[in-house]
Amino acid sequence: MKTIFSTGQLAHNPTHEISDGALQPAVEIPARAEMVRDRILQTAFGAVLEPDDFGMAPLQRVHDADYLAFLESFWTRWTNAGRSGEAFPFVWPVRGLRKDPAPDHIDGLLGRYSFDAGTPMGEHTFAAARASANSALTAARLVAGGEASAFALCRPPGHHAAADYYGGYCFLNNAAIAAQWLRDAGAERVAVLDVDYHHGNGTQSIFYERDDVLFLSIHADPREEYPYFLGHADETGTGAGDGFNANFPLELGADWRIWSAALDVALKRIEAHRPDTLIVSLGLDPYQNDPISKFRLTGEDFTRMGAALARAGLPTVFVMEGGYAVDALGVNCVNALAGFANA
Ligand SMILES: [Zn+2]
Repeated sequence: MKTIFSTGQLAHNPTHEISDGALQPAVEIPARAEMVRDRILQTAFGAVLEPDDFGMAPLQRVHDADYLAFLESFWTRWTNAGRSGEAFPFVWPVRGLRKDPAPDHIDGLLGRYSFDAGTPMGEHTFAAARASANSALTAARLVAGGEASAFALCRPPGHHAAADYYGGYCFLNNAAIAAQWLRDAGAERVAVLDVDYHHGNGTQSIFYERDDVLFLSIHADPREEYPYFLGHADETGTGAGDGFNANFPLELGADWRIWSAALDVALKRIEAHRPDTLIVSLGLDPYQNDPISKFRLTGEDFTRMGAALARAGLPTVFVMEGGYAVDALGVNCVNALAGFANA
């Protein structure tokens, strides 16, 4: 299995984030990607290739033009306001406040285009996010071209980013961009299975009214865990998408026995959808020692996960999402990929 990764993805290099009521050291850091890449090379798992630049068009198929313009112009606006360093939003257009007209001030724009204060933005954030999306697109093209599978070593991650907002360390929704590109390249149906510890609220919202892209997510119950405001079991899609969204919220502390039971149900639903391609939003944060998560999957469980995914028998694009136990990230990620490849 080939891995797609660009060192350009490392340029987004935050030092801090806001979490647990304090300015803390950032956890979504370049070392995450470097650990995974190094493990792939050490174990000779497969080639690591640079992505091609797909330009803005595939991003515009998923994200709103004004949101992309905001991301692109953010640093200029931030520095023109006399700021330096990392930006955090602190005011949002919640119930009763207006989203239009758009504010002119960067602080208003940060709130308009975000949904949390935990996601630092800096000078190179958009360039790194674009490189990450290009890795997903290049992996999707490999699979569309006949490869059985490919791994997009995406970082920054994507599954919390919606059509018009960022958050959860995510700016461009890499999995959604890959899914839409596959549809545009001729796939009739795509399934996106999100195994990250956190609900993939961005991906869900992007495809919620569509029946061509089935979205499924196995994650910590949003009553107890981020992102809190989406990811319940009764969210099943709307309009044409009614029945094409499936959430599996699990209790904190869930182990492989509980987690894999949800996976079995999800795989049956994917089989019924008969997708041309499966995209796996591969979060490694269900891991038992993840610093911000509370599931209890072991390193060996990720091997089992990969093997279970292989049984779907589908061309599969793996897109990396979260996972913050940096020292174990490479092992767990390659366990999942090797579990798939060796099944
Ligand atoms: Zn996560």
